[in-house]
Amino acid sequence: MSARTSARVIEHVVCSFCGCLCDDIIVEVDEGEITRVRKACASGRGLFTRYDPTPRQPTVDGQEVDWKEAIAEAARILDEANSPLIYGLSSTATEAQRKAVALADKLGAMIDTTSSICHGPTDLAMQAVGEPTCTLGEVRNRADLLVFWGCNPAVSHIRHFARYSVMPKGTLTPNGRRDRTVVVVDVRPTSSTQAADLFLQVQPGADFEVLSALRALLREKEIEAETMGGVPTAHLQEMAERMRTCRFGVAFMGMGLTQSRGRDLNVSELFTLVAELNQYTRFCVIPMRGHGNVAGADQVLTWQSGYPFAVSFARGYPRYGPGEFSTVDVLARAEADAALILASDPVAHFPRVAAQQLERIPTIVLDPNRNLTTQVARVVFPTACYGVDAAGTAYRMDGVPIRLRPVLPTVRPTDAEILDQIIETVQQC
Ligand code: SF4
Repeated sequence: MSARTSARVIEHVVCSFCGCLCDDIIVEVDEGEITRVRKACASGRGLFTRYDPTPRQPTVDGQEVDWKEAIAEAARILDEANSPLIYGLSSTATEAQRKAVALADKLGAMIDTTSSICHGPTDLAMQAVGEPTCTLGEVRNRADLLVFWGCNPAVSHIRHFARYSVMPKGTLTPNGRRDRTVVVVDVRPTSSTQAADLFLQVQPGADFEVLSALRALLREKEIEAETMGGVPTAHLQEMAERMRTCRFGVAFMGMGLTQSRGRDLNVSELFTLVAELNQYTRFCVIPMRGHGNVAGADQVLTWQSGYPFAVSFARGYPRYGPGEFSTVDVLARAEADAALILASDPVAHFPRVAAQQLERIPTIVLDPNRNLTTQVARVVFPTACYGVDAAGTAYRMDGVPIRLRPVLPTVRPTDAEILDQIIETVQQC
């Protein structure tokens, strides 16, 4: 058989790198290797081309061992721990997320996702005031006003503008970009402001003030101050009028709101503003979720425990404790004595005090790729990559579940399979 006869072109592949979950990717595979990726952005191409699917053995203390031995060691670590922690979940499939919750339940462990360091405040706001939302399909077909608040999709979600929001021609937006007004609100100009018709520059930490002013203007209250949160009041009046009179508006919000002063209160204020706008027109909000299945992590943890992140099963039932059971806080207070990290790299992203604690306690990592956390882990399971060489399900940023199909044959075990075996092996109940 010639080399060319095994070449395949696979269409409608889903990229699971970011919350856009673009499902129009074309991947060319030859002799079991990905040779070309079309339509994906640079980040998405990297997901497929940088992944090395070669079978690898798990390691314990850096030494290769067989899978049974690694599972026994992981189970021993978790069994001996008084206060184990499970963290990550945002770059794996819902099938594995379910198993992670089941393991936490069996161990009486704390379980937390990367939401606790990104959109956790969005979850809190959602619980407080509700989330008036829609799908990206509705945005594409209907939206004539797009507001990007505290996010920079031109860098973080590179195809968002082209595929879902700014550029596409839809049923009620046949002229694409020309049928839409784009507003960017941020503390400084970014790559995304270049795509905006209107840019509102807010003083750092003043988002709540600006959102409150917009709510007041919407109710036709007078604002005497010339500026609010660094934005001229006249510009806010223009913005409030645009929001009130558009046909279908959508606010996309990011970590500029969730991780600045006010956090969940900023998001609650935006959600409330959006809800109130529905007295005049149709308006929705969509959080710009970063990791490919972080939205799924929230969904699965909520189905299984009732809460989206920062959950403890230590008392035999789920308790919710943002701040108390959030991983950075738990590690900084040295309250966990073992950790299982699922498809995440906290050593690269956590504050030093939390990252150093992960080096002190026995840590188990399930991840398709090597990273800083695998370097410090006691046990490492090199698992398959969902959407590249394993099938699974992920949730897009708008809450729509998308099936991930593999483009390469599955040779490594998946996260879900390894977690299943750990669940069977651990003793605690
Ligand atoms: Fe992948 Fe996100 Fe780029 Fe789409 S925008 S190709 S999902 S990284």
